[in-house]
Amino acid sequence: MNIFKPLDLSKDTQKPDTESIEKVRCLIIGSGPAGYTAAIYASRANLKPVLYTGLQMGGQLTTTTEVDNYPGYPDGITGPDMMEDFKKQAERFGTEIRFGIATKVDFSGKTHKVTIDENKIVEADAVIIATGATAKYLGLEAESRYSGMGVSACATCDGFFYKGKDVAVVGGGDTAAEEATYLAGLCRKVYLIVRRNVLRASKAMQDKVMKTSNIEILWEHQAIDLFGDNGVEGAVLIKKKGTPQEEIIKVKIDGFFLAIGHTPNSEVFREFIETNETGYIKTMPGSSKTSIPGVFAAGDVQDPVYRQAVTAAGSGCMAAIDAERYLSEKKN
Ligand code: FAD
Ligand code: NAP
Repeated sequence: MNIFKPLDLSKDTQKPDTESIEKVRCLIIGSGPAGYTAAIYASRANLKPVLYTGLQMGGQLTTTTEVDNYPGYPDGITGPDMMEDFKKQAERFGTEIRFGIATKVDFSGKTHKVTIDENKIVEADAVIIATGATAKYLGLEAESRYSGMGVSACATCDGFFYKGKDVAVVGGGDTAAEEATYLAGLCRKVYLIVRRNVLRASKAMQDKVMKTSNIEILWEHQAIDLFGDNGVEGAVLIKKKGTPQEEIIKVKIDGFFLAIGHTPNSEVFREFIETNETGYIKTMPGSSKTSIPGVFAAGDVQDPVYRQAVTAAGSGCMAAIDAERYLSEKKN
């Protein structure tokens, strides 16, 4: 879902209500592992943080079942339960958690203005952006039908559940090559479904894929449907679409992994904050500082590489510590 879609409001109601300007010391945008961890640290540092959850309270992990790789849960935990724990911990230290979406920002002044739901302005001395990233899907109805039942956009997270089984990875870029290679170490067979007759991935990644005996590349194939009674049992593919050789084939698989890219949820900040060419917020190496003093970024929105709950949480901690230092230096 594109949370940045402009709301369908009349011109009059789009005008922020200047009566409702609120001043806060530390504003956190996003309620995934990065946002909640920043909130735990910021509230313990007495920054009295206010956190806006966005549409997806709890973030991406609320869309998954088991999380087995987050330290501290030896028996695993479901994503929604884990995020409820994060929320409770942030609340325990006094974070004010509110439902609302940052729809506009103005980072041009001394304090930073963030418009919530197009009608309320919050003015903050420090802002922590933790709005995450959204995995791209093909848009097939079957992807939602089998969500959590064989469809995944994260091999590192879910690959373990397919140990010894057959899976498919869709995509031809570095992520797809990396995910296919990772899965090949766990699974019996990996089909790499590539829509063109070339890979976009770097030469080094391509070589790795080619050298892995249990990866089979299905060139010029596109997935059009999935089937199975209790979860994914196979995929329907179209080969050489639009050519005289066009053909429909089926492959038997237990897991269907999307690796066609992610979209960082940074659109609302891009007018003011520097991003890389794919929209990830740039942070200074070894810190959470963005191009604007007093604005920090944590989690997937600034991380095109790792995109894990534990790394998001770690960078949320960094952002709160950076914000605390920034605020105390500003005071002096
Ligand atoms: P997110 O979790 O993406 O949260 C972003 C938050 O920002 C959301 O609360 C959203 O509502 C909010 N937001 C967005 N835009 C706005 C806005 N404009 N205003 C206000 N709020 C906004 N990682 C693991 O380590 N282990 C796993 O097992 C695992 N499994 C996964 C399974 C699935 C299906 C998926 C999709 C991901 C999985 N991941 C896993 C990856 C993990 O979920 C992410 O790395 C992690 O959630 C990133 O945390 P984050 O806080 O940066 O952002
Ligand atoms: P990407 O480079 O944009 O590649 C996306 C791939 O998905 C492309 O092969 C694309 O096909 C395919 N694709 C997109 N939409 C599709 C659709 N609807 N149906 C079928 N296939 C579709 O994305 P990425 O692989 O996630 O990489 C993003 C960036 O991160 C890149 O700059 C990459 O180099 C970098 N990265 C680096 C590493 C590493 O160095 N270890 C690892 C991961 C990512 P086409 O090629 O036909 O367009």
